Amino acid sequence: MRIAIDIDSTLHQYWDIFSDVAQDRFGIALPYEGQRDWNIGVLKPEQMKAIITETHSDMNVLRAVPYPGAVETVRAWGEAGHWIHITSHRSDDAREATEQWLNQIGLPFDDLHCSFDKIPRCVELDIDLLVDDSPVNILRALEEGIKPATLLHPWNEDVCATEDVVVATDWAELSLALDPLLAVART
Ligand SMILES: [Mg+2]
Repeated sequence: MRIAIDIDSTLHQYWDIFSDVAQDRFGIALPYEGQRDWNIGVLKPEQMKAIITETHSDMNVLRAVPYPGAVETVRAWGEAGHWIHITSHRSDDAREATEQWLNQIGLPFDDLHCSFDKIPRCVELDIDLLVDDSPVNILRALEEGIKPATLLHPWNEDVCATEDVVVATDWAELSLALDPLLAVART
């Protein structure tokens, strides 16, 4: 099976870095629990852009701590013969640090894509399964016939409740939930 895996809020708790930068730069508090919408209305577009850029600085990329079990699970998928495409909505400028980070945490991958065209690239690559927290990407994946899976976050609760998405609260649960799908593909 061909698996695409997002980075931010999928492989690590990106919100901590995002909210730290929002607080430091603009004095805006963005508690995780309150972020029930994909649009962050309190931020102006230019503030949003500045924060995202800073979260993808080399220093911030390299200090991200993977969720427990994420690396082990993705490694097992690769060892089982699945093709692993890591994909992140971040500038290509962050590619080198991102690659360094993946190596540093010991996450093996076949392909890395740092760009803003995630779903079209997944379609080009004939991806079967997308692990991504974004409700927008989940809906677009479904439109393209790609199976979505995600960790549950406040901002994707609604889409997870109404759409055909594999949902888990952590990587141990996600690994178990995807086992039947990935085992079927291996036979
Ligand atoms: Mg994400």
